[in-house]
Amino acid sequence: MTAPAQLLIDGKLTSASDGASYAILNPATGLEIGRAPDATAEDVDAAIAAARRAFDESDWSTDVALRLRCLRQLHEALLAEKVAFEALTTAEVGMPGFMMGAAGFDVPVEGLKWVTDLLETYEFETDLGVAAPMGIKSRRTVRREPVGVVAAITPWNVPTQINLAKVGPALAAGCTVVLKPAPDTPWVAAELGRLVAEHTDIPAGVFNVVTPRSHEVAAVLSTDPRIDMVSFTGSTATGRAIMAAAAPTLKKVFLELGGKSAAIALDDADVASVAGATAFTACIHAGQGCAITTRLIVPREKYDEAVQVAAATMESIGAKDPADPGAICGPVISQVQRDRVEAYLRLAVEEGGSFATGGHVIDQPGFWIEPTVVAGLDNTSRLAQEEIFGPVLVVIPHDGDDDAVRIANDSPYGLSGSVDSGSLEHALAVAARIRTGTLSVNGGVWFSPDAPFGGYKQSGIGREMGVAGFEEYLETKTIAVPA
Ligand code: NAD
Repeated sequence: MTAPAQLLIDGKLTSASDGASYAILNPATGLEIGRAPDATAEDVDAAIAAARRAFDESDWSTDVALRLRCLRQLHEALLAEKVAFEALTTAEVGMPGFMMGAAGFDVPVEGLKWVTDLLETYEFETDLGVAAPMGIKSRRTVRREPVGVVAAITPWNVPTQINLAKVGPALAAGCTVVLKPAPDTPWVAAELGRLVAEHTDIPAGVFNVVTPRSHEVAAVLSTDPRIDMVSFTGSTATGRAIMAAAAPTLKKVFLELGGKSAAIALDDADVASVAGATAFTACIHAGQGCAITTRLIVPREKYDEAVQVAAATMESIGAKDPADPGAICGPVISQVQRDRVEAYLRLAVEEGGSFATGGHVIDQPGFWIEPTVVAGLDNTSRLAQEEIFGPVLVVIPHDGDDDAVRIANDSPYGLSGSVDSGSLEHALAVAARIRTGTLSVNGGVWFSPDAPFGGYKQSGIGREMGVAGFEEYLETKTIAVPA
């Protein structure tokens, strides 16, 4: 049984200051499963003040041994609560159980351990040696120090992955954090706050969780001068707004944004196998993954075969209750998201496309969409250009390598993708021409705690996970002394 969702402000688990709360819905049923504190502007202000004070006045930013001990405690607490945490994630997020072995739970929790292990060996200082700039002999040292107070703003689709991929490295680096999850999924973030409060020695104010329903209340996180960095994952539109709002105080802004990634089957690939695998991927978590390949780009002469295989694969998967152990495609998160995806399905027809399978919402309680394959559109269509965030795959023909590369890169996004060929050399040569932050070649898997993840172009700025994801939370200071 999970504890009720509470805010964590300055080490205390608490309700909203005015007692207000809002419903947390199970997207599979549309029914209320709990309530979240609707943090007020005063609550957010108190969280920022606590994080600022903890950074400026506690030992957190300088005491690596303290950070190591506390992060190991948090890791152990998460492992101890694995079963309850996963059940909560399925109920609140609608995430199918099979994802818990990956982005749902195991990888982010392993990622917390990975960054804690990194902290044990990370060289915060580099000796640059002696030089004599302008004739003055000096010994120079480069020191890496925490950025300061971090506002971590996260979306609803894979909340534990994204919460921990920010909170873990930020805390390990010595920053203090105000975590603000999406109002659709406040509970798993609140659980993280509870574990910190109840199972770790993390000092008061170092980690805070606020769950306001309104974006207006959250917006102060990008403008408040006491915050040094905004680490944001969400839509490109919101990322742009946050970057603009952060400009007057010149905060460091780290953005993980949307995607419209391409899966390319080259002429010598097993196109049926690529089509089946890509259709499967597009169904995972009802397509609510920023790095999912949602454009399938196949040789023109094998187009019909690819569409058929993709459609048959989606039909065999279907949309299922995420609590069902066989579920791959659960519900979408909310009524708003269901309506948004439905509008794209109408647009597919208006743009001249057709459905090889799916194409409709499923009329049952909760928020459900049929897994859908759209055929007959080219890459200039809005269906191929815009992020839908539903189980919708667009199949596009190509006329050889140059054309496939052109189509894949003809996108405002550059987050992920895949290239498949009968020849690894051929696939790697094409992969080198794709402008994205991660790529799977011939079925390789890039998603791992030690591998940097992030986007080119309008998919973001910066990298999460890996050493690069840790160093996002560090400043660089060069110190020179007479030699
Ligand atoms: P969203 O942009 O609507 O919201 C993301 C977060 O920002 C939420 O917590 C929201 O409450 C908050 N927010 C919104 N306006 C704000 C403001 N003015 N000031 C401060 N906070 C504000 O995104 P979403 O709908 O929650 O999530 C889906 C999007 O996230 C998709 O576009 C998806 O591609 C993207 N995403 C990207 C990655 C990645 O790593 N690149 C990972 C997952 C999701």
